[in-house]
Order: sequence, then structure tokens, then C-alpha cells
Amino acid sequence: MAPRPLPTPDLAPPAHALERLPEEWAALLEAWGEPRFRGGQVFQWIHQRGVCDPAEMTSLPKTLRARLAEELGEELAYPFAVHRRGRAPDRTQKLLLRVAGERDVETVLIPQNDGSADPDVDVADRSEDREVGITSPVTQCISSQIGCAMGCVFCASGVAGLQRHLSAAEIVGQVLLGRELLRQDDEGDRLRNVVLMGMGEPLHNYDAVARALVLMTHPDGLGLSTRRVTLSTSGLIPQIDRLGRDFQGRVQLAISLHATSDERRSAIMPVNRKYPLAELMACLRRYPLPKRRRITLEYTLIAGVNDALEEADALAGLVRGVPVKVNLIPMNPIAESDLGAPDASGVARFRARLMKHGLTATVRRQRGDDIDAACGQLALYGPAGERTPRRRRLPVAGPGGGHGPS
Ligand code: SAH
Ligand code: SF4
Repeated sequence: MAPRPLPTPDLAPPAHALERLPEEWAALLEAWGEPRFRGGQVFQWIHQRGVCDPAEMTSLPKTLRARLAEELGEELAYPFAVHRRGRAPDRTQKLLLRVAGERDVETVLIPQNDGSADPDVDVADRSEDREVGITSPVTQCISSQIGCAMGCVFCASGVAGLQRHLSAAEIVGQVLLGRELLRQDDEGDRLRNVVLMGMGEPLHNYDAVARALVLMTHPDGLGLSTRRVTLSTSGLIPQIDRLGRDFQGRVQLAISLHATSDERRSAIMPVNRKYPLAELMACLRRYPLPKRRRITLEYTLIAGVNDALEEADALAGLVRGVPVKVNLIPMNPIAESDLGAPDASGVARFRARLMKHGLTATVRRQRGDDIDAACGQLALYGPAGERTPRRRRLPVAGPGGGHGPS
């Protein structure tokens, strides 16, 4: 079934050819003296068929192809170069993309075909995959910023601080490239889900992320269903409200909770000092969630910090009345911190306790950690591709000296 188009929220003007929506292409081409429908054709070539080179846009008149090449030639290409491509034994792929400013952005392609359930995708969604004959749905994890200003102490991006926002073209470009590489691999893998869980806090880069969401869910483009696009946030309340309004609650929302008291949450997530738990929960209660949908609560389990069973009890109390599913993420080690995950039995106990309270709780499978591609391991790379050497011991009890949200 074709996805229902999203309402288009007020967007900042496009800054790059890859960011233009059909109606924006139509306006541009009309100004060039072309019929408006050509705008839709250009959009489809780029976003549906993955063709950026005007010479290959064969349904367009030659004169228009030539003008596109002449006036927009440089922009009609991915706004990055593939700098490195790594593949883990579990077939997870990590791509390092070199963007302007000589920085690398990371995106990860995670196949879901190993027989185990993808905790972030509902069973109903997987049966739909079978119906359309997709043998191996892939989830792509994309980045929204280089580094992150939120300063969470367990996260490599947070420890590094914010380097810069990504543009909408750099964000949607990751998805266009991911789909193209899977096509080229020709192993039956198809891009099915996108999660904004890579580097960066997506809601701290709202304008670019909103445009990228409209682009990647456009039915004449990548055509991803909004149910299959998950935005994960550390809890920027005004922007969650705005996302709910702009997209009618249809983009799948994931909230990084990680603790159930303000004291503990502020110690590991400085953003909590600005947007404390009670306000965050009130915000989730008013989020315009469509029927039968739930908000995902991510809970990174850190040994000795937030893995006590009392935290599970408190979590159940905190979320009462909010339709949620909990996704537990055993903390992945990062070079910059001595914090780590509890052992498997500790994780299982925590999960069982949540379930005793009637909550749906899953444990996120570790994928790609042997190529540093797991959650929170997406770090900064310098011009030569080496990881930024920045090791420091992180306090568990204190705020961690991170950067607060702006
Ligand atoms: N900034 C957003 C999205 C990117 S992080 C957010 O914080 O939600 C995506 C998820 O990975 C978040 O839930 C985050 O808390 C988690 N994460 C960060 N570092 C991690 C680590 N070292 N181990 C496990 N999960 C981690
Ligand atoms: Fe930023 Fe998310 Fe990492 Fe926190 S967990 S520092 S919000 S990327």
C-alpha cells in the first residue's frame, strides 16, 4: 500500500538541490520557462530512482538536462564521498562519509535477516515484509549532527561535543546512498527502516531534520512509511511538541530515558537539568500519538548506575498512562569512559522486572560492535580517519562536565 503523504510543515528554504521537494523543483523549473510537471519528474529521478546525473534523466528534454547540469551540476551529487566502508561478520556495514569541512559522518546498515526479531519493528511490520517478498529488510541508522552538544557521559558523540549540524541534503543523502549500496550489493537486502540514532541529537537540528523527514517519506521519493522512521531524542521538550504538531505524531518517537530520578538522570544526561522528568512525561502524555502506536523508551543499562531493580519499579510508575514499549540497550563500551553494561543476567533481571509491571520490554541486540558501529560508539574521526584521541574518566555521580543543550 502506498504510504499516505505527510502534511508538509513550514520548512526553511532548501539550500541544496537534493533538498528540493517536488513543488520547489516545479517553482524553479517554471521560472526557467518549463512546465511545472517537470519538477516532479526531476524529484522522482533523484529520490525514487536514485539518479542524480541529469544526463541520465532520460524522460527530460535534452535542453533541460543540459541546463540542470550547467546550473546545478555540482549540487546534483551526494554532498559527501564514501571515505570508508566496513563490514562486520554479522553483515552490519558502517560507512564513513567525508562531508565538507573534512569531517566524517557515520551511518550504519543493519540487516535484520538473522532470524532474531528486530526489537524496534513490530511483528505486523515484519509480516508486511514477507507479503512484498522482501527477503532481508535492512534498518539504516543515520546521523543528524557531527558530534553532539548534549554531553551524555556514556556516549562517544556526547563526549566529543558538537562540531556542526548536518544539512537536510547530508541527512537524506545518507539514506539515498544506503539504498543505492544495498541495490548494488544485490544480496536481496532492501532498505526498510530508518532510525535517527546515529551521531547527534536530531531535535537540536530541527529544521534540517524536519526537511529530511519530509523528503525520505515522500511517496514520489524514497517512500518510507512514517511508521518506519524513528526519531530518537534525549528529550528536548519544545521540539518534541513541534514534531508532534508538524507531523501529527506520525513519525515514530523514541525517548532516551536512562534513569528514573532527576538526580540520576541529570548525572548522566545534562539535558535533564533543563528538561526534567516530570515535564518530559507531561510532554509525552500530550504527544498526538496515532491509535495503536506506542512511544519507544530507550534505556541504556549501565552497571552500578541505573540497573538496580528499584529503577525498573520506578520506571513503571513514571510511565503509567503513557503507551510505551521499553527498549533496553546494554551499554556499549566507549574509549572515553570506564562505564559499562551489567552482565547478561543483570539485563535479564531488569527486563523481567519491567515485564512483571506489565510493560513490554525488549533487549536491543548488539550489532556491529566489532567495527565500532554500535549505539554510542559513533565517534569523531579526524582528517586521516583516526578516532579523535580524547580519553577522560567520567564521573558517575556528577554531571560529567558535558555541554548543555542550547
Ligand atoms: N541523540 C539521540 C539519538 C542518538 S543516540 C538520543 O540520545 O536519543 C541513540 C541511542 O543510543 C540513545 O538512546 C542513546 O542513549 C544510546 N546510546 C548512546 N551511547 C550509548 C552507549 N555507549 N551504549 C549504548 N547505547 C548508547
Ligand atoms: Fe547526544 Fe544522544 Fe549521545 Fe546524548 S546519547 S550525547 S543526546 S547523541
